[in-house]
Amino acid sequence: MPEALAFFRGQVVPLSEAKVSVTTHALHYGTAVFEGIRGNWNADHDKLYVFRMRDHYERFIQGCRIMMLDIPYDVDTLCNITLDLLQRCGYKEDLYIRPLAYKSEERVANLNLQELSSDFTLMVVPFGAYIEVDGAIRCCTSSWRRVDDTIIPPRVKISGHYVNSILAKTEATLSGFDEAIMLTQDGNVSEGSGENLFLVSNGVIHTPLVADNNLTGITRDSAIRIATDELGLDIVERQIRRSELYLADEIFLTGTAAHVTPVGELDMRPIGEGGVGPITQKINDMYVDIIAGNNPKYADWCAAVPLE
Ligand code: PMP
Repeated sequence: MPEALAFFRGQVVPLSEAKVSVTTHALHYGTAVFEGIRGNWNADHDKLYVFRMRDHYERFIQGCRIMMLDIPYDVDTLCNITLDLLQRCGYKEDLYIRPLAYKSEERVANLNLQELSSDFTLMVVPFGAYIEVDGAIRCCTSSWRRVDDTIIPPRVKISGHYVNSILAKTEATLSGFDEAIMLTQDGNVSEGSGENLFLVSNGVIHTPLVADNNLTGITRDSAIRIATDELGLDIVERQIRRSELYLADEIFLTGTAAHVTPVGELDMRPIGEGGVGPITQKINDMYVDIIAGNNPKYADWCAAVPLE
């Protein structure tokens, strides 16, 4: 039987025992950095593959540098802690892996990062589809603008800036849409509340610049690699205006949780034919195969967990 475990205060404990005090700094101010990593179960191989784990931990360490979170682990050690926890938990299904570095000081009235202690924890939860929709999703342009790098750096996963995504996602779903697309303060297209964005126009793929307040998405990078190396398509990273989205042939979103998600409608207007576009479909098919550990060319993106 799989066991719900966590890595907490330097050791593996039952998940139910991994608890912090209400006085913890990160709980009050969002002074934490996290990652979202997928473990993908391949029943044919009888193996669990962790997707681009090193890349996730490299982004994680970048976030820790920005937030002055001193944790005593490098990327290699974080990968080993993760593989060990997955082995001990023994899950044989799709998983979401959540590392969190946080300001653990049990003293709230202090806004100086350099004076606050840091800690690291890691948990794993079974996780299927993030957006429960068959086919293409319906999006709206959010009334919330994407948090700017001059306010809280959005290129890494700082817990506090997720309030921005949460406000946007909540507004979208309460209004009957599946997902929100956010613009920058200047009105450029930025990204979804938890996904990067791509549009296809006349066979060419366009995606916003990371500098337009995008998270440096690992699925974004995977989609770019698939589109260019496998499908021979051109990708243009540039500033994109809102109205270009309405005129696109296809739009898709990418993210660890959302995978490759086609957008069929934006602001009540159909995108292309309103369904799953052919280029989106091709990228998705390759992506699904790669993350399941089926494509030997991308074996270095998939770390197999040694399970019993
Ligand atoms: N943007 C935001 C705001 C996100 O939360 C995510 C999910 N991590 C992404 C983009 C996609 O990034 P990745 O592909 O690395 O999961």
